[in-house]
Amino acid sequence: MADGKFATSITCMDGRIQVPIIEWIKQNYDVNFVDTITEPGVDKKILEDSVFESIKTKTEISINAHKSSIIFVSGHYDCAGNPVSSDEHKSHIRKGVEMIKEWNSEIPVVGLWVNDSWTVETI
Ligand SMILES: [Zn+2]
Repeated sequence: MADGKFATSITCMDGRIQVPIIEWIKQNYDVNFVDTITEPGVDKKILEDSVFESIKTKTEISINAHKSSIIFVSGHYDCAGNPVSSDEHKSHIRKGVEMIKEWNSEIPVVGLWVNDSWTVETI
């Protein structure tokens, strides 16, 4: 059994957002560790069935082994894997949040946007 409280973050692989997201989650939620599942442009990729299945399997490990209590789905400014406008990113993130909620109704799911100041916002 893992010591400490865990969250699960489904996020882009971009190195600029890892620390801001993990710090923001730890500051705003009662968690000690953030399990991180990455994919380039994940806010778009999660909408594809095969990628969704893979993310689901990884998220289940975080839930089952670490008893993760909250799941985050994020997107960010200047994303090489999903080069669209901020509004399109937010729309993708909201769809991803809904997909995770449909699959898992037990654990809260929160959408995050990392803006052009590299600041995390909930959406
Ligand atoms: Zn990205």
